[in-house]
Amino acid sequence: MTDKIMIIEDEEDIITLLRYNLEKEGFEVSCVSDGSKAFNAIKINQPTLILLDWMLPNMNGIDICKQIRYDNDLRNIPVIMLTARGEEADKIKGLTIGADDYMTKPFSVPELIARIRALLRRIQPMKTKGELVFEDIRMDLATCRVFRGNRSVHLGPTEFRLLQFLMEQPRHVFPREQLLKEVWGADIHVELRTVDVHIRRLRKAMNEGGETDLIRTVRAAGYSIDSKQPGDPEENGNETE
Ligand code: CA
Repeated sequence: MTDKIMIIEDEEDIITLLRYNLEKEGFEVSCVSDGSKAFNAIKINQPTLILLDWMLPNMNGIDICKQIRYDNDLRNIPVIMLTARGEEADKIKGLTIGADDYMTKPFSVPELIARIRALLRRIQPMKTKGELVFEDIRMDLATCRVFRGNRSVHLGPTEFRLLQFLMEQPRHVFPREQLLKEVWGADIHVELRTVDVHIRRLRKAMNEGGETDLIRTVRAAGYSIDSKQPGDPEENGNETE
């Protein structure tokens, strides 16, 4: 099955460049240049992955990304933000609102394609059958749904993969370097603190209903999924910014 990539971008030169290179790589490509038409187009086309420009006419990429993440049918679609803004604060903001990756213009096409492939690989394991359970957390890998007790938890693809990886070996502490390699892929450069940003998002989503925090931050060591032991030092929520 061909992976469908949707380009949401208003700069003709970039659309032409991306369309040419992505089609050459064997992807099916669709384009939208008006921000206000993006959401409907995504609903209709159901792309495998979205390249989303930040500054768009009528509706910006941040708002479109939020809409995608709030939609039950679309929230698992990986999103790569494309933007001319290079500020670190904007990058973190982009990741915080639900983008899975971020590229600053002008970007290298081979690097973008490597990142697309890494994201697509990341969602592949989600399609395998099975279920992972730890305490009141249940991950249905066939339908990509996550539950805490009876509450359905909404996660983006990166948080899903991160949780899946931690759930596959409960209580095992994984260094951030290893999480980067396993969840993001070894072939792309992502900063270590990106892991912290996604862990924070994962933790927020998992504990939204007031549940016990089962994601353990082990200072200077990494993260694990673990039961809270009485008398445990309060390590959680203290990740460095
Ligand atoms: Ca633009």
